[in-house]
Amino acid sequence: MNEKGMLYLCATPIGNLEDITLRVLRILREVDLIVAEDTRQTIKLLNHFEINKPLTSYHEHNKIEKGKYIVEQLKQGKNVALVSDAGTPAVSDPGEDLVALCIENEIGITSLPGPVAAITGLIISGLPTGRFCFEGFLTVNKRNRKEHLEGVRDDTRTLIFYEAPHKLNNTLKDMLEVFGDRRIALARELTKRYEEVFRGTITQAIDRFEENLPKGEFVVIIEGADKEKIKAEQQQQWEEMSVQDHIDLYVNQGMDRKEVLRKVAKDRGVSKREIYALQLESKKENK
Ligand code: SAM
Repeated sequence: MNEKGMLYLCATPIGNLEDITLRVLRILREVDLIVAEDTRQTIKLLNHFEINKPLTSYHEHNKIEKGKYIVEQLKQGKNVALVSDAGTPAVSDPGEDLVALCIENEIGITSLPGPVAAITGLIISGLPTGRFCFEGFLTVNKRNRKEHLEGVRDDTRTLIFYEAPHKLNNTLKDMLEVFGDRRIALARELTKRYEEVFRGTITQAIDRFEENLPKGEFVVIIEGADKEKIKAEQQQQWEEMSVQDHIDLYVNQGMDRKEVLRKVAKDRGVSKREIYALQLESKKENK
């Protein structure tokens, strides 16, 4: 029986063709089959580097049957390279399913690093890079989009999103509503001739792009939540709540009684003894 082939995850440029690595070029020339998200896009890259190899598509709408075909090729000993339209495959594209399928089928995979729009945008944003969270694309559905944003509102890490230009203005308005007027960077057409980075607040970004409709591809980078502000808001929320309601909140979550008193005392920045006393007092008042 043939030895199985290898799946090579090949990062390709996000605009500037000089960003392809020597290793990716060698592997694309050596493999038996190249799998691309959009073959029309990839053929331009291959023609530029004079690479002539069998090419097949693998995308959201054919990934089930194509996945089986690709695994079959790999099992027969063929080596396969997976490329995305731009950047690193399996980042916000169906490549992740092919990787999972190959792991299931015990096929060897190796990753050839290179450009990724999220990181290229983050490092030029001027926002903190120490801790960040990649959130990918937001959905088109307004309610789900809001839910997604609300889910990361209290995250203190820098947030990175991908966004299509025609949706950018609405997304910025939703972001302002959910996050407040935080610092933002919009990295457009990275590595290309009209590369541009807008840095400012969300309100300034809305003003800027309402006048000049956004064009090209964008990475949106937003500063994380302010820890101190969240703490102060939370503190205010506890203070506005009666001790009994605060206790009931955790009891209703199924928390152990002893643990509840400890947690309530910690939340309110007082001792457990004080919580007992306040609880007794409110019980007396309610009699
Ligand atoms: N796999 C890719 C990667 O490694 O970044 C991303 C693919 S995703 C389908 C495409 C999105 O990436 C675009 O909608 C845009 O948000 C972002 N993107 C790709 N190229 C870009 C560029 N040159 N400048 C800014 N954003 C880019």
